[in-house]
Amino acid sequence: MTRLTTLTLLAAAAFAIALVTPTATADDRPNIVFIMSDDHGWQAIGAYGSTINETPNIDRIAHEGMRMDRYYVGNAICAPSRATMLTGLHTHANGMMDNRRAFDGSQRNVAKMLRAEGYQTAMIGKWHLESEPTGFDMYDRLVGQGPYYNPVLRAGGEGIDGYEDVEHIGYTTDIVTDRAIDWIEDERDPEKPFLLLVHHKAPHRDWQPAPRHLHLYDDDEIPEPTTLFDDWSGKGSAATMQEMMIARDLTKRDLKLVPPNGLTKGQFEAWTAAYAPKNEAFEAMKLEGDDLVRWKYQRYAKDYLRSVAAVDEGVGRLLDTLDHQSLTDNTIVIYTSDQGWYLGEHGWFDKRWMYEESFRTPFLVRWPRVIPAGTTSDALTQNIDIAPTMLAAAGEAVPADMHGVSMLPVLEGTTPDDWRDSLYYRYYEYPGWHSVRRHEGVTTERYKLIHFYRLDEWEFYDLEQDPDETRNAIDDPAYEVEIADLKRELARLKTRYQVPPGEHYEAPTNGRRD
Ligand code: CA
Repeated sequence: MTRLTTLTLLAAAAFAIALVTPTATADDRPNIVFIMSDDHGWQAIGAYGSTINETPNIDRIAHEGMRMDRYYVGNAICAPSRATMLTGLHTHANGMMDNRRAFDGSQRNVAKMLRAEGYQTAMIGKWHLESEPTGFDMYDRLVGQGPYYNPVLRAGGEGIDGYEDVEHIGYTTDIVTDRAIDWIEDERDPEKPFLLLVHHKAPHRDWQPAPRHLHLYDDDEIPEPTTLFDDWSGKGSAATMQEMMIARDLTKRDLKLVPPNGLTKGQFEAWTAAYAPKNEAFEAMKLEGDDLVRWKYQRYAKDYLRSVAAVDEGVGRLLDTLDHQSLTDNTIVIYTSDQGWYLGEHGWFDKRWMYEESFRTPFLVRWPRVIPAGTTSDALTQNIDIAPTMLAAAGEAVPADMHGVSMLPVLEGTTPDDWRDSLYYRYYEYPGWHSVRRHEGVTTERYKLIHFYRLDEWEFYDLEQDPDETRNAIDDPAYEVEIADLKRELARLKTRYQVPPGEHYEAPTNGRRD
């Protein structure tokens, strides 16, 4: 063994002890900057091999840390995903099964737990859980969905009486980034380790770019996905019942054929100068059929990617701030989304399905002290693992009744042989926006089984042979054994996670939007 290797091992051993010793001084414990955007699909991130845009700043996290290639969510919609991130529980257990109710903030969450152990906790940006945040020394949250321009941020926190709504003028992605930087530079207690959640509204529908990005991609043609004109003949009937088609379901506002509300005079002028000439050209072409779908795809994809561009710049500014504050070495930086997204695949926009585009979600993580730079992992991980991972990184025990487990061994490059080999998924919100039918399912590294239980239809995909999920093989005798195995595995996971029998969900009638 070389001397260098020995020293490295000693250092690693010393660090491992620091991680599990409760008496470790505060200085030894890592800070956590958790950046979560809304609806950012992996197809639109350079580090994941994007062919449609570049994200050099988000990619920096992957280059200096780890790219997780098989990270998934448990319920691919905004509020449920956020509740799972905070609690380490699938949504049937934290109560946030859809977007239409208030999160029960009295329950255990990772911010409360870290704060109790001496962490300083802050949350900035999109919250979307209706009830006021609990467990944060400081929060500055968007009210409801939050607009792309000129947002109100609600300021509050533990020990602060009530809250204050403050109007901001500017582009929301930039304002959220600015607030996060101000908090790191000037407002936090430098004696304490911190947990900072930075939650972007972008690139959620309706994809309004910043003024500086209104002309980005003007001269480009965004490559189309191969399944843009999918007729869903290779899926089950649920796919034919949705309302999320680029061809049919994008509104004039989505397509920027009418301007958004709430812009200042200057913002409106910049907006109109960008879109009016393009819209006139579009009207003059009188497109129909597939040509019209192609135009809609281009308009949609460009605005989505423009919205991503501001997020990427914000990530770069945050990383620079950590550098300038000499915090980089012992700060965990995570970049993720609340779920994946359809960028024209199967002819769709939106999320919700257990298909790979929305179920699989980007997760990039950097922690120079622990994670070897430029690494990747295929381990099956899920948003139930976020809270356990944060707790473990802070040297805290993970409660046995959390559904997730710590990803630390995966991040360290020492994934154990008995790491999980399947994941549970469930989507509830139907009737609801975009009309995606209720379903649940299980995935392994290679196979996926989905049950649309109200339709009593099953779908089965071989992800190795059919990565785009265009051939439902549920009736293929060649997969008889695998399908039986997955049905058993689904039942086992439901027992493991104590999923109540039957529907155990009633759609509320107060239709809050996604
Ligand atoms: Ca979302």
